[in-house]
Amino acid sequence: MRNLRLGVHVSIAGHIYEAIDRAAALGCNTMQIFSRDPRQWRKKRLAQDDMEEFRRRRAESGIAPVFVHIPYLANLASPYSVLYRNSIKAYVEDIKEAEALGAEYLVTHMGSHKKSGEAIGIKRITSGLNKILERTKKSPVKILLENTAGSGSWLGYKFEHSRRIIDGIEQKNRIGACFDTCHGYSAGYDLADEQGYQETIRQLDEIVGLERLKLIHLNDTKDKLGSKRDRHEHIGKGKIGLEGFRRLVNDRRLKDTAFIMETPKDSDDSDRINLAAVRRLANK
Ligand SMILES: [Zn+2]
Repeated sequence: MRNLRLGVHVSIAGHIYEAIDRAAALGCNTMQIFSRDPRQWRKKRLAQDDMEEFRRRRAESGIAPVFVHIPYLANLASPYSVLYRNSIKAYVEDIKEAEALGAEYLVTHMGSHKKSGEAIGIKRITSGLNKILERTKKSPVKILLENTAGSGSWLGYKFEHSRRIIDGIEQKNRIGACFDTCHGYSAGYDLADEQGYQETIRQLDEIVGLERLKLIHLNDTKDKLGSKRDRHEHIGKGKIGLEGFRRLVNDRRLKDTAFIMETPKDSDDSDRINLAAVRRLANK
């Protein structure tokens, strides 16, 4: 059996260090969290003691790497200066906090240009990221750009967007990529089909580079190819299907990539069932 780096996005309800216990109880060897309420600007910082306890429990659990997902509110492509400035501030705070938690990566969507145009949006993201990386210059935390489904004016629905941003980043050793299968399928990358899958990985490698791909968000999708909709589904229950995920988790080219599920949590067993489904695929 392949030695998969496999985990889920876990809740930080209660104290942030309880997230480690949740991931460990599910048998995860990697995990993702929000470091705060993803729909609100930060009200208060995490307590120093809680962050230390997180590091301690994480070291004990052997879970690695740890991914922190940036809140939905932040938008580095925004043409509005207040939101843009607040977003930069939020990223800087989150990187500092991720470092204090001992997390390796910050995962972010690329942002929405709000009709200001893709070229301008991409420039804004790139210069915002350069400011953020400059203000956290000594931090080991790396930023991963996640692809999107391409609804509205969201950037990141094709690999070329990531490429253009990465090209403009000064600290290139601190930037990487995350590929979300639900978003990819909705954006038109046909992961349900053998040929479509091979072509997707070929493009990802050629345009972004598989060495930059540190994370795959394993999510099935409720919507059809190219729908531009973003509705996650349980593994094997959606349009990508079990065969699509079997190809992915057994692909030798992705052996150093972590897999994290952001699948629906509609019952207490959802995570356990989805993890078991992926492990079975990797067993064969
Ligand atoms: Zn995702």
